[in-house]
Parts: sequence; C-alpha cells; structure tokens
Amino acid sequence: MLFRLVTGLCLLCASLNAQTSDNSVIIVGAGLSGYSAARRLLENGFNEITILESSGRIGGRIYSVPLSNGMVDSGAQWVHGQVGNSIYQLVSPHFSFGSTPVDLHYPIFVISNGTTPQQRNFQSLYSLGYTVLANISTIRLPRGSLGDLFVTNFDEAIAGPLYRHIDVATQDFIREEIHKETNGYYGTSSWFDISARLNFLSEFADGDQYLTWKRQGFITVFDYITRRAPNPSENLNIDSRVIFNKKVTNIRYNTNDPASRSTVTCSDGSTYTARHVIFTGSLGVLKKYHETMFTPALPTRKVSSIRNIAFGNVAKFFMEFDNNFWQTPGTTFLKYLFMWTDFHKNQAIATNREWMTDIAGIYAVDQYPNLLQIFFGGGNTQMFELASDETVINDVLWMLDMFLPHLRPIPRPRAVHKTKWLTNDNFLGSYSYPSMDQERSLSTIAELASSIRATNNMPMVLFAGEATSSEFPSMAHGALDSGYRAADEIVSFYG
Ligand SMILES: Cc1cc2nc3c(=O)[nH]c(=O)nc-3n(C[C@H](O)[C@H](O)[C@H](O)COP(=O)(O)OP(=O)(O)OC[C@H]3O[C@@H](n4cnc5c(N)ncnc54)[C@H](O)[C@@H]3O)c2cc1C
Repeated sequence: MLFRLVTGLCLLCASLNAQTSDNSVIIVGAGLSGYSAARRLLENGFNEITILESSGRIGGRIYSVPLSNGMVDSGAQWVHGQVGNSIYQLVSPHFSFGSTPVDLHYPIFVISNGTTPQQRNFQSLYSLGYTVLANISTIRLPRGSLGDLFVTNFDEAIAGPLYRHIDVATQDFIREEIHKETNGYYGTSSWFDISARLNFLSEFADGDQYLTWKRQGFITVFDYITRRAPNPSENLNIDSRVIFNKKVTNIRYNTNDPASRSTVTCSDGSTYTARHVIFTGSLGVLKKYHETMFTPALPTRKVSSIRNIAFGNVAKFFMEFDNNFWQTPGTTFLKYLFMWTDFHKNQAIATNREWMTDIAGIYAVDQYPNLLQIFFGGGNTQMFELASDETVINDVLWMLDMFLPHLRPIPRPRAVHKTKWLTNDNFLGSYSYPSMDQERSLSTIAELASSIRATNNMPMVLFAGEATSSEFPSMAHGALDSGYRAADEIVSFYG
C-alpha cells in the first residue's frame, strides 16, 4: 500500500515537472562548460536558454589569437590525452590533430654565462627526473607534496652508481629545472604546494598528452560543440543565445519556493530571471566574489571548498621572428632550457626582471617554424602580466643575448602575444590545482560542484567549469564534461 502511494506520488511529481512550462535556464559564462551545458540542454528540448557573458567574446580560457598567419593559443593549447578525453572523442573523427614532440628530443641546456655545457649529464639527469615524476604519479595514496616526494626519490636515484659521478651543480640545476617546468604545468608557485595524493586521485586520459590544433587554434572546438561542424545543417546556434558584456554581480535564489525564478543581476543594473542558473565562472572569480555573488550566501562546506581548492596561474609569451635563426640544419629543435648562475639571477632581480628567473626555457611551437614560446608558472606571473609588451620584448632579448651568444645578434621579434589571466577580472588566474590546503581541509571537488536545490529537490543554482570536474580538473575536457554534467542534472529532474 505504502509502496503504491510512494510510486503514485513520484509519478505525479514527474508529470508535474514534465508539464511545467517554465524550464528556463541562465548560464553564466560563454566558455567551454557554458557551451557544453547549452548544447546538452538544447539537445533535450530546453529552448529558453540565455548565456550571460562578461566579456565581448566567447571561449573564456579558450582564446586563440592571430599570429604568424595562423592562430596561437593564449589559453588552452594542447588536448591532453585521447582515451576518455571528451574533446578528442568529439573532434578527432573530423580533424587530424598535430603533436608537440615533447618526449622525442632532448632539450639543449644553456647557462646564463653564455656557455653550453657538456649535454650528456644534463640530459641523463633530466630524463631520470621525469621518470621519477612519472613513478610518483603511480604511488597509491602518497603522503606529502609532489615537491617533497620528488626531492626524496630523485636524491635517492642520483646517489646510485649510474649518476653519482655527476657534479652537484648539475644535480641542483635539474632539480630546479623540473620544479620550474612543474610550476608551468600546474600554474603553481611551488611544487611543495601540490598534493601528491590529490594529484594521484585525478584522472589522466591516456594517449598523446600534447595534441595540437595545428595552425587553427583551440577555438576550433567550438565549431564541434555548437555542431556547426562537421555538418552546418545541424548547427544549434548557441552563439545566438549569448548576451555579451553582461558581468553578473548577483544571483538571488529562494530554495523554499521551488516555483520561483532566480534573479540574476548584472553590473549594468540589468536583471534576468530563470528557473535554473548554471554558474561557470572560474574558481578565481568564485574566490573573489562568492560572498557578493550569491544571495543567500553559499553553504559553509561549499565556501570551504572555494577557499581551499587552489587556483594557479601560468603565463605565455609568443614571439614571431622573420626566420628561425635558432635552428641548426638537420636537427629538430624542441627547447632551450636555461640555467641561471647566482650572479645573473641577482642581476635579473636587481633590474626588475625577477619574473624571468621562473622561466624554465624557451620552446618550439608545433607547425610554426618562426615562432618561439615562453611558458611558465609561479608567483612572478603578475609582474610579467603588468609589464608592457615592449618591456617584455627587451627583457627577453636581454636574456637570449646572455644565454645564446652564439646566435648574436638576436633579432627583434616582428610580432608578439603576451597572456594576461591573473590580472583579468573575468578569470583571476589560469586553472585549479590540487593543493596541500585542499588535502588538509578535506575539501572536495564534489562539494564545489554540488548544486543548490529547492525543497522539492529541483537543482536551482548549479556549478560547472574545470574546477568542478572530479575526473579532469584544470583540463579543457574536464570543463566540457562539467557542463554536460550540470545540464544532465536539470534534464533528469524533468525526467
Ligand atoms: C594559460 C592557460 C593554458 C591552458 N592550457 C591548457 C591546455 O593546454 N590543455 C587543457 O586541456 N586545458 C588548458 N587550460 C585550461 C582550460 O583552458 C580550461 O580548463 C577551460 O577552458 C575552462 O573552461 P570553463 O568553462 O571552466 O571556464 P572559462 O573558460 O573561464 O569560462 C567562464 C566564462 O565565464 C565568464 N565570466 C566570468 N565571470 C563572469 C561574470 N561575473 N559574469 C558573466 N560571465 C563571467 C568568463 O569571461 C568566461 O568566458 C589552460 C588554461 C589557461 C588559462
């Protein structure tokens, strides 16, 4: 009897949900997760969708800019992995990706005093260092930070017979070099802040980790999310749902009244209402604005996740030259790695070039023979972002002249692109990373991702974006998946 009553109530509930004419959705943010949420909703017959975007463009942290007769990526650049990577799965049947051959060729190690050291020892320690890093990522439930584990395991390995003849300066340099490259990968200031345990718990899609969009740029992914490619007749016209220059400042919701619409207020005073709101702004935006963004305030446990899950920053500088003056005929150039002497490091610091000491090296760019790219993370990225293009060009020329005297005179680049994520109020950094604070506070991504539900369990305010992806946090495919996940929550509520 009780069973029949409950079943009857559930059916009534489902049919009421299905019958309601109001299934409107506002999506805050026109990045990957905002677009994937819109796609999934439109595919399920939800037609009242509005996307409010603070800036004047779509893409968010996917931002391809013209350079060297192609597009280079200010934000996401590589598709990391193939198996289980939703971006790869969506696009690869129709597009042939390029690849940055990171593992195929060793870098060239150069020193700030202009000498190119004997490469063999550097290369063997560098290769050992990456083996140590790879091994750490397979340890089940490791303790401590990635930095701690690296130093312990690396120091143990170099004490072995194959490496102990290598001098201390070379060992120190390789330790520091891999530290800098790790900061560039995670957007951290120090690898002693990366939780090895949480890092172990996030997934990595197997396959090539450095697939490129050749000369087209990552923005190409939006052709496939919107379904204007490969078949234009299937275009979902998501672009037409976006209202630009709408910086959302407040989302007012009432969980006690499931029939009510939430009110979204923008910085220009305009307001929009909808039954569901999906917030996709970055974790950096949430950290700075969550107290004023949501009325009533977010639950304490979600606030704890916002505070303790970390958000880092990476910086890039692309330089286009008239020719590839660094290329030695018959070889494949991958990267120069820079080793600073204390004297030159102090000189850089004394002349307001401290940010340069965070640079691990300078890299080739797939498909662009005349481009070089700097890529680094850490505490000095703000200094880099605030400097003018001209200052950065002069600083880089100073550095290249010092490290690569055999290539003098170093020509000026004819065009550059400099990134600016930390100092852009729409992002306030690059992407999330698994921090020691997160581990200590037991804060979870699931909590960050959880929806605020009305008394009838209807998801009222939902959260998407890379930082809410438990499987692939920080990654573009994690962002894509998170938009689908939020949309699915709404779709499944209506049964
Ligand atoms: C420098 C850099 C390099 C990266 N490299 C890679 C890589 O190689 N591979 C990879 O897989 N991933 C990479 N990523 C990560 C990847 O770009 C992100 O995971 C993904 O693009 C995030 O998408 P999202 O939808 O979560 O957020 P976003 O792209 O940030 O979208 C959120 C949108 O919300 C808007 N917004 C913010 N606040 C408001 C507001 N108050 N009101 C209205 N709108 C607002 C923003 O303008 C933005 O358009 C990189 C990121 C950066 C920055």
